[in-house]
Amino acid sequence: MSKVPTLCIKFNRYSEAGICPICGQWYDAHDGPELFLEATWSPVCPRCGEQYAPALMKTLEQLTNWDWKRELDPDLLPQDDKQ
Ligand SMILES: [Zn+2]
Repeated sequence: MSKVPTLCIKFNRYSEAGICPICGQWYDAHDGPELFLEATWSPVCPRCGEQYAPALMKTLEQLTNWDWKRELDPDLLPQDDKQ
């Protein structure tokens, strides 16, 4: 247990549930920004994220709150700005 896992945020289009590669707990990944073990598409559970990459978890939180879905489908953009 000497190696600290390298985590990264990637845009999840695969949406696979799976076993967290670090702790072995089941984790349901979501579409959109997710935390992964680097060089894999294995989603890392939030608990391991907090433990090994708290800064990335904070960033992920902001990315998740951000309306990233608009990027996927430009037609969803509102025609006019409500103001
Ligand atoms: Zn985990």
